Amino acid sequence: MRLVSFDGGRVGILDADAIIDITSLIPGGHDVGWPATTMPRAIAAFDEISSSLTDVREDLPRIEISAAEIMAPVPRPGQLIALPANYDDHIGEMNSPNRADRNGFFVLSPTSISGPASPIVLPDLDGYRVDHECELALIIGRPTYRVDAGKALNHIFAYSCLIDMTVRGPQERAMRKSFKSFTPLGPHLVTADEIADPDHLSLTLSVNGQVRHHGTTADMIVDVAHAIELISSVIPLSPGDVVATGTPAGVGPVAAGDRLHIDISGVGSMMLDVVQGTGGSNIAFAGRAPEHVPGGLSAR
Ligand code: MN
Repeated sequence: MRLVSFDGGRVGILDADAIIDITSLIPGGHDVGWPATTMPRAIAAFDEISSSLTDVREDLPRIEISAAEIMAPVPRPGQLIALPANYDDHIGEMNSPNRADRNGFFVLSPTSISGPASPIVLPDLDGYRVDHECELALIIGRPTYRVDAGKALNHIFAYSCLIDMTVRGPQERAMRKSFKSFTPLGPHLVTADEIADPDHLSLTLSVNGQVRHHGTTADMIVDVAHAIELISSVIPLSPGDVVATGTPAGVGPVAAGDRLHIDISGVGSMMLDVVQGTGGSNIAFAGRAPEHVPGGLSAR
């Protein structure tokens, strides 16, 4: 099944060209509070929701996709966690001393997540390069703490496409990657039962029609199950939490006016525009652009 968030955080399943609005089936219904929890609650209760769906499907509201405002499928997860340096070819291109199986993971601000209909907004940082990274996203389905790799796949609810936008520089990684709109997620969630093997998915990202990344999740150093084991050894994960699994080689700079297209086999694809914003600089960025800092670009 494919799930979307739309029209202010309602939850639906895709059915041909339409969305079936299942919000009324979610325990607690729709909440318009912040952070929005409608999709995480739908995920937590999805077994019950999908078993009741057969009976009530015809009675639920049906909206044409073209008439809906599609948001990030999990607009505001409780946690957004990412693996660094998880593909050898990317480690090579960055000349990086890091490796996911030695460095572990890092945490990003969930407020960096944006949806398939929103542009990537570049901060106004003079002299800094902003790169795309093309990643498979894991969406957690149930409470997950200290789960061994052998059982980890049972804790994944769904998969999605994720772009990890990154300012290159010597500053803290979490700050460089957490600008608003720097983690496009979507366009929908594909439930785990539809993905036979998450460790054999092909990932492609193009900029203005030119392929930049073309890799396979088979090349991940820490595979999907071991990523869950690694992260949950430290952090208790909850339904709707998002894990970014790292990028294969092909990172490169983007500029205002670029169009990024990400495609993951069996998962989905989305097109995103890049626009120039204003603001975003601060004392940590001022005067420390990578061209002035030896080795600055190899920090990720
Ligand atoms: Mn990344």
